[in-house]
Amino acid sequence: MIFDEYTIKSLVRPVPDFPKAGVTFRDITPLYRSPKAMRMVADSLIQRYVESPVTHIGAIDARGFLLGAVIAYELNKPLILFRKVGKLPGDTLKDTYATEYSKAELEIQSDSFAGGEQVLLLDDLIATGGTFLAAARLVKQLGASVYEAAAIIDLPDLGGSRKMQDADIPTYSLCAFA
Ligand code: AMP
Repeated sequence: MIFDEYTIKSLVRPVPDFPKAGVTFRDITPLYRSPKAMRMVADSLIQRYVESPVTHIGAIDARGFLLGAVIAYELNKPLILFRKVGKLPGDTLKDTYATEYSKAELEIQSDSFAGGEQVLLLDDLIATGGTFLAAARLVKQLGASVYEAAAIIDLPDLGGSRKMQDADIPTYSLCAFA
């Protein structure tokens, strides 16, 4: 299905002052409710990575999981979960980070990578970049590399995608709200 940025952006609802004053939350649930828009998003990402050397899909808790599962299934790649702390059993690695409106800890299982993997990180949105930067540190700690960090939406005014590129993390988004 041909990607139509207007359709995608029209299904992202701005919610002022959520979850706290001063933050405009970009609610993507209308997009997730639209099979047509979801197919556009998934098809664009599949097309971008189908011929790539990506070996693993790294999905970020929680909205990134929904995207990650679809892309991992279609690309026939292993799906690695980057979870909020305390949800994963076994040996784990943790990294503390800040998002636009919260401080959080991201965790993965220590045996997620053996070393040398090319990981595609997926989340719904890039704000300050804190989440993707934490995920990238965890990937690196286990000897793997981030092939690219991709999101549906970038909020460039918050500086995250710039910060990620400055940290040598290839960064991609399907659309932006400036
Ligand atoms: P950050 O780490 O600041 O780039 O924030 C990205 C993560 O926090 C993503 O998992 C988003 O789902 C969530 N997030 C941060 N800011 C927003 C926002 N304005 N609207 C929706 N989600 C956001």
